[in-house]
Amino acid sequence: MAKEKLTILLPTGHLPLGLMEAARQLAAVHSLRVYLTNRQNLRLIDIPGHAYEEVRQELAKAGARFQEPGLFPLPTVCVGKPDCRHGLFDTEAVSTEIMRQFDGCFPSGSRLKIAVSGCCRCCSGAKLADIGVMGTRDGCDVFAGGKGGAAPIVGCRVARGVALGEVIRIIEDLVAFHQHKGVPGQRIAELMDDPEFPLSAC
Ligand code: SF4
Repeated sequence: MAKEKLTILLPTGHLPLGLMEAARQLAAVHSLRVYLTNRQNLRLIDIPGHAYEEVRQELAKAGARFQEPGLFPLPTVCVGKPDCRHGLFDTEAVSTEIMRQFDGCFPSGSRLKIAVSGCCRCCSGAKLADIGVMGTRDGCDVFAGGKGGAAPIVGCRVARGVALGEVIRIIEDLVAFHQHKGVPGQRIAELMDDPEFPLSAC
């Protein structure tokens, strides 16, 4: 029978102990592999088809939320302030506020990656994401149009030293523009020269 996999979303990369224990028990019982994804989520691999629903339900009972089409993308975050000595802001708080504002429906097929980094070292890849937020001594810098992959592109800075409320407004503008263009799979990097692009380099 075919093997299945499940990806559990871990906001800000944190794994609650109850969920960790439920995943550990299910992995032991069903001989699953446990993989930490580069988007900071937890993936259970090799789930026997006959056990898939049980595994999903047990994880849901432990609080799991699963990756699926149509969800706004969780930001990838670095550890930030106060746990990193270089951190200039609390990356967890910024990411949580982004998800509080945008959590919910997102058009299926849309590709958007968001990253939050606590300083210019950009350990979470804020300059290589569609939308990147980076801590500075003066506030947040926002980048747009970055991407990784075979031909990486460094995003363009579209705001300097702004407060979190302004970051949210800029993300709103970028998401609305991206959705308005509505081409499945298109990255913001491909839209930077569009005459309707809502922001300018700074
Ligand atoms: S980006 Fe800066 S604050 Fe974040 S983990 Fe790296 S060095 Fe620390």
